[in-house]
Amino acid sequence: MTLYAYRPRRLPEALGGLFTLALDLRWSWHHGSDRLWQALDEDTWNSTRNAWLVLNGVSGERLDMLSHDPDFLQRLQAQLTAHAAFTRAETWYSEAHPGKLERGVAFFCMEYGLSESLPLYSGGLGVLAGDYLKAASDLGVPVTAVGLLYQQGYFRQAISADGEQLEFYPYNDPTMLPLSPLRDEDDGWLRVTVPLPGRDVRLRAWIGQVGRCELLLLDSNDPRNEPGDRGITSELYSGDPEKRLQQEMMLGIGGWRLLRKLKRDPAVCHINEGHCALALVERALSWGRDNERDFETARSATRVSNLFTTHTSVAAGFDRFPRRQLELYLAPWLAQSDLSVEQLVALGVHDDDRDATGDPLLNMGRLALAMSGRVNAVSRIHQQVSQTIFQPFFPRWPRQDIPVEYVTNGVHTPSWDSPESDELWTGACGQDRWCRPMETLEPLAEVSDQTLWHMRLAQRRRLIHYLRQRLASQHCAHHPGGNTQAACGLLLDSETLTLGFARRFTEYKRPDLLLSDEARLVRLLSQRDRPVQIVLAGKAHPHDHTGKALIQRWKRFSRRPEVEGRVVFIEDYDLGVANQLVQGVDVWLNTPRHPWEACGTSGMKVLVNGGLNVSQFDGWWAEAWRPEVGWAIRPGATFEELSHTNDHDASDALELFELLENEVIPAFYDVNADGLPEAWLARVRTSMNTLTATYSANRMVRQYVEDFYLPMSENGRQRTAAVAQALVEQSRQIAGHWPRIRFTGMEVQTLDGEQQVTVDVYLDGLDERMIRVELVAEASEFGPRLVQPMAVQEALPGSGHTWVYQCRVPARPKGHYTPRIVVGDNRLTLPLEDASVIWMR
Ligand SMILES: *Cc1c(COP(=O)(O)O)cnc(C)c1O
Repeated sequence: MTLYAYRPRRLPEALGGLFTLALDLRWSWHHGSDRLWQALDEDTWNSTRNAWLVLNGVSGERLDMLSHDPDFLQRLQAQLTAHAAFTRAETWYSEAHPGKLERGVAFFCMEYGLSESLPLYSGGLGVLAGDYLKAASDLGVPVTAVGLLYQQGYFRQAISADGEQLEFYPYNDPTMLPLSPLRDEDDGWLRVTVPLPGRDVRLRAWIGQVGRCELLLLDSNDPRNEPGDRGITSELYSGDPEKRLQQEMMLGIGGWRLLRKLKRDPAVCHINEGHCALALVERALSWGRDNERDFETARSATRVSNLFTTHTSVAAGFDRFPRRQLELYLAPWLAQSDLSVEQLVALGVHDDDRDATGDPLLNMGRLALAMSGRVNAVSRIHQQVSQTIFQPFFPRWPRQDIPVEYVTNGVHTPSWDSPESDELWTGACGQDRWCRPMETLEPLAEVSDQTLWHMRLAQRRRLIHYLRQRLASQHCAHHPGGNTQAACGLLLDSETLTLGFARRFTEYKRPDLLLSDEARLVRLLSQRDRPVQIVLAGKAHPHDHTGKALIQRWKRFSRRPEVEGRVVFIEDYDLGVANQLVQGVDVWLNTPRHPWEACGTSGMKVLVNGGLNVSQFDGWWAEAWRPEVGWAIRPGATFEELSHTNDHDASDALELFELLENEVIPAFYDVNADGLPEAWLARVRTSMNTLTATYSANRMVRQYVEDFYLPMSENGRQRTAAVAQALVEQSRQIAGHWPRIRFTGMEVQTLDGEQQVTVDVYLDGLDERMIRVELVAEASEFGPRLVQPMAVQEALPGSGHTWVYQCRVPARPKGHYTPRIVVGDNRLTLPLEDASVIWMR
């Protein structure tokens, strides 16, 4: 089935292949076809990096000319041949796990950051989803991504003369985006509907080709919808909770329905953040209809192959919707099923979590947990943070048992490397290095210091050139007065140590850490023989007044005469700006308040280009940092000692100044007899060698495939309708006895330095194999954490319902071992699928 048979303009026959190339977003990271787009319309290509727009905007005359230009035709043919070879080529997946995920993986996310020409993202979450999808394509993993097509995306930023953030919402004309309408077999526009009170919302469907993967997008801007409904997908993160719920319905319910309409039945459904939890509910409902089973059975059958990735660092990060609102919006949808709004709310509501009027709130994070078979956080520290956030949902379970695993995020290396570093890596490890696991531990062993330093210099020069152009157009737009040279970046210098700081401007990211001592910062920037320059960029959420004030502070600081031209703020941070910055800066600064950075990915983007990180010991950097690869603020900070407070702000700022003054700046400027900064380059080399492949999306996606998708797909196969039904019945049976099950005795005997623990459990007539008794000791000076299963011995003589359980453990003081009873079925993931637990008092 050709899903994208969209031909909005006629092309000369010889150029017909341009459609195939222009509609594959691979051009956003694979630069093979750049020269074709340049030849068609250099201006449009340079200013938009949107091949589809180039193709649609170029004059017929130019097309005619090129259709007779043998050079162009030859280049086009070469690209088409390469593209055809690319689609047929063996990949990591096709070689390592051929056919194992035949039904594919569905991936849901609210936002996708694939290219600045497809503005459907706001920040980290979307960029990660984009990088994930590109890496899945490189590796050949059969992923279909599902999202929303926003008419306005996230806001675009300008900064007024007095440092105020201005927000613009330019309209995305979908026909100018590198997407095509999704058509059905009869060439009609494929549509799905989602019921809202008294009406159905019609969703239009679009497809974006991302190399070997597909991105399916839905939007509600169908002229046949009510005017209000047409705007449901107008902008991303508008701040209106009602609209947010509607968007989550369109994405989750509409998205799953679209997959079904395309006759897809994915083996695994992966949701990126709790926003997409309704997709899992719709999946269960549709499975229930197909298999004629009730919702509980459907939930049990489908959840084992649902993966929930959380990116949130604070409990308040999850969307919560009041029951009243859900009753209004969800009732028409659920009316077609055996699931009531009440039951659905019960899955995601937590005790006394209520809104101001006392109405219970459905927590989308909790709903996602209730619908999933595995859950993962996005860094090691974030695993602990997430366990703490989710702990209240698993009453009486210790934090260590809360079922959250982790996969540290990674970035799509080919999207972030510079032409210079691409050349360097190609020379060292060949063309397809980012499409497979990196085989050598020291890929750059043969590259000389001289070559590394030249690459750094060339990259910095290109960045400075870019910044000057950008600043000139910003300056002309706002006429801030003052020093024109400084405003246009003419004082930036390509031999000066360049720090980059670009991220969302919000309090916990602490963009103002360096401003805590302005005088010291001025001194640091303006040492005559060791100068430093800083490039900043970032948006503040339109409702985040603290974030906006932070931008204003930096703008004000940048106009101090002592530092003019050494501190520049680039407006409208997006993928394009990020791309330039991570290629050219020497140091990437990151100063979030520990432990609020779930992972952070921007610092990973400088690795391939030989930039170094100076960052808070948090997120990925807490895993990656060693003195040989860069610098950490408060290294070794552990999760336990933290609270979400600003206690460390002042000392972190001091530490950052000291690092910069005593280590970073000297390392950059202390050169050997050949004029090379040896100590600096040693770090650059080690960082590139040891971190680039590890913190890549290539590694991340392989980890998702091997540790999650493959085993989860197998679990899904085993959880047949019959098994799911038996598990639900068993769970009801256990629940019937549970209130009366209890420990009736415990005895500890010491034998040869070990302890033999015996407990008696009253089972109320339940089959003794349906429960499991475990002996638990928390970590202490007497040993690590221990969870030891106890073996069932016999029924206590004289009592049919009391059973004896026993085990042997290393001796520990009295009170260190506590027995507990949990549900005993190896097919279940505990406590995710059943949180019942009884501890011996
Ligand atoms: C990488 C990236 C981010 C995420 O960076 P963090 O390290 O999470 O702050 C946000 N926005 C853009 C445009 C990016 O490229």
